[in-house]
Amino acid sequence: MMLVCYACDPAQSRGRRYPQAPALTRTEYQRDRDRIVHSTAFRRLVYKTQVFVNHEGDLFRTRLTHSLEVAQLGRSVARSLRLNEDLVEAIALAHDLGHTPFGHAGQDALNDCMSAFGGFEHNLQSLRVVDHLEERYPQFDGLNLTFETREGILKHSSRLNAQTLELKEPGGVGQRFLDGTQPSLEAQLCNLADEIAYNAHDIDDGVRSGLITLEQLEEVALFDDFRREALAEYPHLQDAAQARRLLYETTRRMLSAQVYDVITATTTAVQATAPTSVAAVRQSAPLVQFGPAMRLKSQALKTFLLHQLYHHPQVLQTMNQAQQIVHELFRAYVADPQEMGEGFLARAEAARGAPNSSSARARVVADYIAGMTDRFAAREHERLSGLKLL
Ligand code: MG
Repeated sequence: MMLVCYACDPAQSRGRRYPQAPALTRTEYQRDRDRIVHSTAFRRLVYKTQVFVNHEGDLFRTRLTHSLEVAQLGRSVARSLRLNEDLVEAIALAHDLGHTPFGHAGQDALNDCMSAFGGFEHNLQSLRVVDHLEERYPQFDGLNLTFETREGILKHSSRLNAQTLELKEPGGVGQRFLDGTQPSLEAQLCNLADEIAYNAHDIDDGVRSGLITLEQLEEVALFDDFRREALAEYPHLQDAAQARRLLYETTRRMLSAQVYDVITATTTAVQATAPTSVAAVRQSAPLVQFGPAMRLKSQALKTFLLHQLYHHPQVLQTMNQAQQIVHELFRAYVADPQEMGEGFLARAEAARGAPNSSSARARVVADYIAGMTDRFAAREHERLSGLKLL
């Protein structure tokens, strides 16, 4: 399929940090995707969670299934907009690689622990994973991905972190956070696909866990419009025994409507701006978007999920324990790096001689904890503290 002139073209890639000969049968973005799928961090996504802790049930989303859903939604939209599907897939599969165990609670706790040492930010950590932490190649650390994939992975950055990146890699992936330019449309699309995916699957997981009810969701317009539509077409779904099917049918319609909305609104925005190249996309306002009505409905759904699900007492209680685990692990490893895995111990010892030795050492500990799965973190905590929290 012919892509639009403002889609990313692997033949025009800004390249890899360590130049490599092209692959025989794959484009550069396909090669990025393959490297991501084979990475250690990608395999661990199956045991990391978003909202629920991994052992709470086998039926909830993990970071792995979430990433696959983002890739699916992103690719559907990319195909329709004639953007580069392979790049969207690579970014989507890598976008959560830097997530700590225990979802946002884990990330907040680790950010607290690192507050005196430059903080912890999961998008930057995803970039660290693909740039430094994966150890698979003889010639370099990391996966040596293309600029465009790395740009999409770093979806947010504080100004300070962007400045640090810019010093190490002038004109690189940190630059747009300093000069206010935009990333490729493929990267913009992954951002929105991420949002669409988690809004839908958090409803699904929330209802199936019993923490939120279908009745509560009637106050959410984005959900309720499609619930009514589904019931009008299939009245038998009213039956309590059909509640699961009603949930799925509603979520499916909601997802489709959001996908069509993004395609329509983005097409309109692109036509108004008429970019002729990726460079032009970078200089314009963000173009991948919801229409105004869908934007409001999506916001209302997010607010609902925040109050009713993410701040549900049961979720908060688990997350408090998760935060305690992360805090105590951090303290234990800083006090005694011997307790960490081999490679990390070696890095902590090497950090001893560094000019900023305590912050370099803390960073090693943060990398170690961030890489853990939920269950490994809980087990490590139990081993070190004798306390079983989760
Ligand atoms: Mg995500």
